[in-house]
Amino acid sequence: MADTFPWTAPPRAARPLLTVDLGAIAENTRTVRSRTSAEVMAVVKADGFGHGAVEMARTALRAGATRLGVTSLDEAFALRRAGFREPVLSWLNAPGADFGAAAAAGVDLAVPDLVMLAGVAGVDRAIGVHLHVDTGMSRGGADREQWAGLCAAARDAELAGRIRVVGVMSHLGRADEPDADDNAASAARFRASVQVARDAGLRPAVRHLAATAATLTNPATHFDLVRVGAGLAGIDPSGTTRLRGAMTLTAPLIHVQAVAAGTPVGYGHTWRAPRATTLGLLPLGYADGLPRAASSRAEVLVNGRRCPVAGLISMDQIVIDLGHTPARAGDPTIVLGPGDDGEPTVAEWAGWAATIEHEIVTRIGRRVPRRVVEHDWNQERTL
Ligand SMILES: *Cc1c(COP(=O)(O)O)cnc(C)c1O
Repeated sequence: MADTFPWTAPPRAARPLLTVDLGAIAENTRTVRSRTSAEVMAVVKADGFGHGAVEMARTALRAGATRLGVTSLDEAFALRRAGFREPVLSWLNAPGADFGAAAAAGVDLAVPDLVMLAGVAGVDRAIGVHLHVDTGMSRGGADREQWAGLCAAARDAELAGRIRVVGVMSHLGRADEPDADDNAASAARFRASVQVARDAGLRPAVRHLAATAATLTNPATHFDLVRVGAGLAGIDPSGTTRLRGAMTLTAPLIHVQAVAAGTPVGYGHTWRAPRATTLGLLPLGYADGLPRAASSRAEVLVNGRRCPVAGLISMDQIVIDLGHTPARAGDPTIVLGPGDDGEPTVAEWAGWAATIEHEIVTRIGRRVPRRVVEHDWNQERTL
């Protein structure tokens, strides 16, 4: 039997794999830095936008970022445990969060109101505070009526040695539309808010408003510091700048099957073979981050050719229409990547699912094995 069947033939692509290229993150960090004279905070929330918070942080810091930003305190503690000594800001916490642990870890906190200020000022060690003002987005931050009172109370807490006000921060709601009037209005409100803080006796060292889109399009919003997350991951919400995707998601074909015209495929039989064709099965589904909304629209790259997803994306698997693409079980496929070899990009997947790129990269499932590489794009460009 062993003479007629190659039982020992090695599989060429045994399982799905997410490859994260830290070289792309480094290159994107350098691109961002070239657009501003402000300090760059690397925003590594949501596990570094799905790329690995520690890896993204280390890479961005090496490439010139000077601070780290996250939402929750748990994310901040993970960075400290990984050994980072740079300033870390955590900006989304409930009043009952563990401020004592934040103080012990030297993590700065965003403070949007008096309730939070009371909690932060209530621990023994002085915590670094970034006062958060709303400049038009109504997604957190003190509003115009509360701001002066918050600044005054923060100054009292500072004089009492309970906190150190190191920053004033806000966020833009429409920075991805650089021409929207709101951007200038919000920047003006931000400048006025900083003046209110100064009038209260505060001397915030870092004023920060811009995230990726405003960093790439609107220098008037940069102040002392820009907070950049998406851009490090190769996402430019403003659509103005060439950044590099850092993720490549591959999977082996695990089954290949010729079917007759009219053969129904998948749950609900929402797709039927329009002609005699060959179907391929991939072991990735919506539990792995392929959005179900992209069913029957998405494509994957098989042996250099784009092949469409046939029917509904299941939890764990998708069927693709191979058509005349030569393919065998075990062949590698590229589900998404930076686009170098014609594979679908994160932006294309976002389009197929009617969402934004951020949602695609942050939702690759835990089940997918990961590999980290570091390609030297800087070197490549200067050769
Ligand atoms: C996520 C986030 C950022 C980073 O935004 P990007 O557009 O991803 O660069 C900056 N600031 C705040 C408050 C955020 O929540």
